[in-house]
Amino acid sequence: MNENMYPTHQIHKTIKPNVKNTELPIDEYCMVCGVKHTEGVPRNKAFSGNFNDWSSLKNPDGTHVCPACRYALQEGWLRNYPYIIGDKLIIYISKAVPKGLEGTGVVFRERSNLLDDLFNLDGLELGKEFVVCIPNSRKHMAFKSTINYTEWYYTIQHGNDSFIFNTKELKQVKLALQRMYTGGFSKAELRKGEYAPHKPSKYGLDKFFADTKIIDKARGPKSFDLIVDLLYN
Ligand SMILES: [Zn+2]
Repeated sequence: MNENMYPTHQIHKTIKPNVKNTELPIDEYCMVCGVKHTEGVPRNKAFSGNFNDWSSLKNPDGTHVCPACRYALQEGWLRNYPYIIGDKLIIYISKAVPKGLEGTGVVFRERSNLLDDLFNLDGLELGKEFVVCIPNSRKHMAFKSTINYTEWYYTIQHGNDSFIFNTKELKQVKLALQRMYTGGFSKAELRKGEYAPHKPSKYGLDKFFADTKIIDKARGPKSFDLIVDLLYN
């Protein structure tokens, strides 16, 4: 992997945050990303008391964490908002922009765009390498995410889960889910495939059978649940 494209480094490069408590590291390889660094935050100041993901670290026996990984372990927006990083950092947010992110090289997009964007990454002009992170567990996941190279077939880091998102395979599924969601079915119904008795005829039986045929075959993988979660009217 191109070390500059480690997700935390890419975020750091775009935001250029001020990271406190850095010093000359004893072990010159970052505990988190394993990349050689010349300044780092000592391990006792770098992790919160809740951190328990030691097995995901590249150099767990190290002494310091590089500024980029420290920032990614610390900042609240990284565990609250979905983001895509390539040549630019796109953050999906419906509320006001958090302090410290204004005026940086970040693009903000309304959260309701996320589902469509996942199917149209080439429209976002991300460059050759990119990362897709969608938090759902209030945990910091940037350091675990995967670098991608193909805009129609890539890995999403969704909370603790990491899975392939094949947009060609999922396109029809997404369209059927969107039609049904707009047509009055709830996310819980779509997730389970159990529908309130009056809804199919109201939706139109032919349409209902055609769309559920597509959806029923696709139910199961985490990519399916993610699409349902992101449906938006
Ligand atoms: Zn690092």
